[in-house]
Amino acid sequence: MPEGHTLHRLALAHDALFAGEGVRVSSPQGRFAPEAKRLDGRVFERADSWGKHLWHRYEGGAIVHVHLGLYGAFTDFEVSDGAPPPVGQVRMRIVGPRGGTDLRGPTACELVTEEEVDGVLARLGPDPLRPDSDPDDAWRRIARSRRPVGALLMDQAVMAGVGNVYRAEVLFRAGIDPHREGRDLARTDFDGIWADLVALMPIGVERGRMHVVRPEHDHGAPSYAEDRPRTYVYRRTGDPCRVCGTPVRSEVMEARNLYWCPTCQS
Ligand SMILES: [Zn+2]
Repeated sequence: MPEGHTLHRLALAHDALFAGEGVRVSSPQGRFAPEAKRLDGRVFERADSWGKHLWHRYEGGAIVHVHLGLYGAFTDFEVSDGAPPPVGQVRMRIVGPRGGTDLRGPTACELVTEEEVDGVLARLGPDPLRPDSDPDDAWRRIARSRRPVGALLMDQAVMAGVGNVYRAEVLFRAGIDPHREGRDLARTDFDGIWADLVALMPIGVERGRMHVVRPEHDHGAPSYAEDRPRTYVYRRTGDPCRVCGTPVRSEVMEARNLYWCPTCQS
């Protein structure tokens, strides 16, 4: 599932493509057709994101809420020779003078009100990518919780935008066992995790991919998959830890695979 940096990057890309322009909105697949008809021809004002949620704002107060879920993706295209014929199940197509994008397979693509935006935001914890986020909101929930910190970091109500990769990697970098209960985490540990996310996630926004392995460890065994950046523990079950050589462990925690080094993280 895309993590927060992907959504922030999309918001920036959609602003660059469409902000201030009248755009054509359609739903080649048909499932968003009535809504697209209402938006078609309006000025795209801006895009923004919080955690894994993306909003497109149009003139006249219309707002589209997008959540990519596991399978959703935007694909951009050039419009110099006209928009290409849609391929596959395109839920929403936006075409402006500078380019276009197709959205396929989202969990949510819907017209919403400002109140509904507020309702989503009220259920989301602070997003390390947003300067207006208050980390104290996350700390308060973590500090009183008996849930393991590995699960708390993935809980979008505690902290928004962190997914499985950042969760695993930031806990490794902090040397914290993901099984430790939230209430046993020191404030200094939390501050270190938050600061690390605030430093790491913008690199993901800028590069379009995560970069989580420190330069002194960024060599040796390749990544878990081609075209993916190296990780310390994510998807490295049984492989030697890049720092201490202990086999990386994994287990299922709250229905998601968790990875950690039992030596470095205690
Ligand atoms: Zn280790």
